[in-house]
Amino acid sequence: MRWIKEISVGAEISPKILSRSCGNSFNYSVKSFTGSDREQAIGHSIVQWFGKNRRILPWRTNSSTYGRLVSEFMLQQTQVATVIPYFENWLRQFPSLEALAAASEREVMKAWEGLGYYSRARNLHETVKQIVKGTHSRGSPIFPETPKGWKLFPGIGDYTAHALASIAQNQHVAAVDGNVVRVLCRANGIQQIFDSKHRAAECIKKIAHRYIPRGKSADYNEAIMELGALICKPKNPSCGHCPIASHCRNFQEKLGGEQIPRFRKTIYVQRDMQRIFLCDSSSIILKKAKGRRLHNIFEMPSPEDITENLATHAIGKICRSIARERITETILEPDSLPDDLGAWVQSNLKLTLLPIRELGNFTLSGPHRRWLNGKIFAPGKIVPGNEKVEKDSGK
Ligand code: SF4
Repeated sequence: MRWIKEISVGAEISPKILSRSCGNSFNYSVKSFTGSDREQAIGHSIVQWFGKNRRILPWRTNSSTYGRLVSEFMLQQTQVATVIPYFENWLRQFPSLEALAAASEREVMKAWEGLGYYSRARNLHETVKQIVKGTHSRGSPIFPETPKGWKLFPGIGDYTAHALASIAQNQHVAAVDGNVVRVLCRANGIQQIFDSKHRAAECIKKIAHRYIPRGKSADYNEAIMELGALICKPKNPSCGHCPIASHCRNFQEKLGGEQIPRFRKTIYVQRDMQRIFLCDSSSIILKKAKGRRLHNIFEMPSPEDITENLATHAIGKICRSIARERITETILEPDSLPDDLGAWVQSNLKLTLLPIRELGNFTLSGPHRRWLNGKIFAPGKIVPGNEKVEKDSGK
């Protein structure tokens, strides 16, 4: 917060201030930041462009603070196209803050199934319950109005707090996501190599608010993200259609287009696991996952979850990425099934026996749901050794 105080809107930024926080190699020239006119001109151009080119998205049509809260949770690490049907279904099922607060955890998790990162659904539910509880006696819900206030709720980090305060409430603060980092790094020719996306956002946040036109924070923050998503794309930026090309150092000085922003190479860790497909004609044995991301979500069990020694053979593979892990799950099938799955599961307390015809009523992780759908409902779709990559980060 000290940085925000030090760098007031329109003020000149000393390289000393930036390098103290972002490292000495955050070394673009002071000249590029001396003109608040230039920064404000960029901000106004982006807002004007947005007025004519914005996509029609359901959370823009229904722009209540509740709708924005839901969309910001859903959009964390998930693409717009994936979120749209979930958002529409969500508002049909839980049309208000009060309706969501009154819903059971099971209903909430079921509505979220397939979006992944299930802790988001729990945190959204908890946040809404706290808002409703805190404001019940005062009539209509009272939302926080500052990023600091929003950050007191579960699952609301720095980006989401700034997005809600600016986009939903027009507070003069900048929300910095990957799109904003890309646009501002390119516009200012910043060639620093960042350790991570998080670090880049931290650095860019210190200058991002200087571009917000007075009184237009909501439009500006959405506009610069939209510019990053539609024009200043990671690959092949459409500089010929860009409203700020005349101010952009990357374009004017031909600094290398898509090479900016620059990041240290991500090192992925490979993890190999085994899962057991235990299923007869009417029932299937699953296990509720533990851990932050998939807590209480059903998946196929691992051999370590089974107390008996079962002879098995491999029948398929699921590949998924979660954060910096690439996980390959080999699916095993027992050579012969126990006679009575119901009796057998009672001696394996970590496991749950579910009727296949009711599988749709339970929340499964996306990769396991898709694999089981293929195996159980469309036999022959999954072939042994199939290596379908599910890049959905634990969905
Ligand atoms: S001119 Fe090109 S590189 Fe610069 S901000 Fe626009 S799209 Fe991005």
